[in-house]
Amino acid sequence: MPKLETVDLRPKKHFDIREIGRVETVRKFIVIGRDLPSCINGEVVEFANGERGVVMGFKDDKVQILVMGSATEIRNGDEIYNRGEELRVPVGKNFIGRIVSGIGNPVDRGSAIEPDDFYPVFREAPGVMDRVPVKETLETGTICLDAGIPVALGQRQLLIGDRMTGKTTVAIDAILNQKSTGVICIYCCIGKPYVSLMKQLHLLNERGAMAYTIIVNGTSSAPVAEQYLAPYTACSLGEFFMHNGQDVLVVFDDFSKHAWVYREISLLLERAPGREAYPGDIFYIHSQLVERAGYLKPELKGGSMTFLPIVEILQGDVTGYISTNLISMTDGQIYFNSNLFNKGLRPAVDFGLSVSRIGSKAQWPAVREVSKSLRIDYLQYQELLQMSQIRASALSKEAETKLKRGAMMTQILTQDKNKPVPIEYQVLVLFALSKGLLDSHPPAQVREFVDEFNTFIQTADPEILTKLRTAKELSPEMKKKVEELIKSYFEHKVFKKPAAK
Ligand code: ATP
Ligand code: MG
Repeated sequence: MPKLETVDLRPKKHFDIREIGRVETVRKFIVIGRDLPSCINGEVVEFANGERGVVMGFKDDKVQILVMGSATEIRNGDEIYNRGEELRVPVGKNFIGRIVSGIGNPVDRGSAIEPDDFYPVFREAPGVMDRVPVKETLETGTICLDAGIPVALGQRQLLIGDRMTGKTTVAIDAILNQKSTGVICIYCCIGKPYVSLMKQLHLLNERGAMAYTIIVNGTSSAPVAEQYLAPYTACSLGEFFMHNGQDVLVVFDDFSKHAWVYREISLLLERAPGREAYPGDIFYIHSQLVERAGYLKPELKGGSMTFLPIVEILQGDVTGYISTNLISMTDGQIYFNSNLFNKGLRPAVDFGLSVSRIGSKAQWPAVREVSKSLRIDYLQYQELLQMSQIRASALSKEAETKLKRGAMMTQILTQDKNKPVPIEYQVLVLFALSKGLLDSHPPAQVREFVDEFNTFIQTADPEILTKLRTAKELSPEMKKKVEELIKSYFEHKVFKKPAAK
């Protein structure tokens, strides 16, 4: 029997179904539209001049639209087209190494980007059943974080502090440190001056970090809609890699500016201002964003997305509206103290006010072992130091030993900017401290040891760091070996003489 094929000879239909409304008023970057009865929140509409807008809300029978480009050419009475489409952004691997706008368009004067897919901007966060508990460490390369306040893959860790306290530096260092980890990084700049983004870009380029990084530009010179949508776009871009089983790190710099932008939009939408003049739904906006981080279960390819949102506070006051909101919706915070920063302690992380709700679960067993009492010891030292400045004569022998240990700890925890330290090396240095192998040396020699021990082991035992990275824990033999190496370093080292006064 010959096989019969049916051919549809009817003409193809090309319907463009759209609802046509009208512009009622234009208020800066907000358009109030009418005659759009089937519009819903988060949908994209088009104006007669080709500009696009996103539906932000409704008042009576009017639609409030945020214009995504410039609203200067939009006039009262212009047509608005609604096709019932949700706002989507292009995503894909070709975005790596590029700078995109808050709605995913390239803004680095490079070629057009071929997307792999289009993801909804306001995508829902993965459900509880799609996730697994976080358990792997995200290597930030900053010793006081990795050893004291660890960050896990899939976690949301807030970086909170006054202006100019080193928040961005720690976040960028975490990006620099992903060079060999395979983690894709996204740096989302919101409401900051364009020059500060360029500074970070220059650094990332210089260190070859753009090979695995995407920048989302929501700087203060970008249209307001792009500043508002930038963190959503960053999440969507990250989700593409997470759904492909990769690990992603997203830095939001910063959420206080994002809250300002949303406040500006809300005031133009005539919504009642609440606490500190922010609209009440800013809590929802930020929690909806931070919920999108997570660690997916193996059936969903097991990718993860880690967030480092930054929030700026005023004069160390963490009780502001935006900061308390963010503290309550993240898994921990790293508090940057301006007093410590001014004393020259960098990074100026305050162990007392910083917390990670994931705790040491995500640390390598080796790191957990060598940093068990690091935080508490360091806090005790700082307290003791203050007391000793008041009554230096009344110090006991024990207190003096603690002060000496503390000074050493300070040398180890103080770290230059943009010089992330691999975790395996952190383990060796902290091992030396916890075993008391540094006790007989003055702090200046400890500093030299931290800076130079790495070069020493490159000749003495180049394998040890690789072994430690594979094992992730210190076996008794390895401990013995490390101890020997440290002792041998101090035996062979001729220390620089302190400069004569
Ligand atoms: P802003 O509020 O402006 O965003 P910030 O809190 O993000 O500031 P950074 O821009 O990271 O702070 O750092 C402020 C200054 O401190 C910069 O000049 C930076 O170079 C310097 N700095 C930060 N960390 C260190 C460090 N570990 N070592 C040396 N300098 C540092
Ligand atoms: Mg900053």
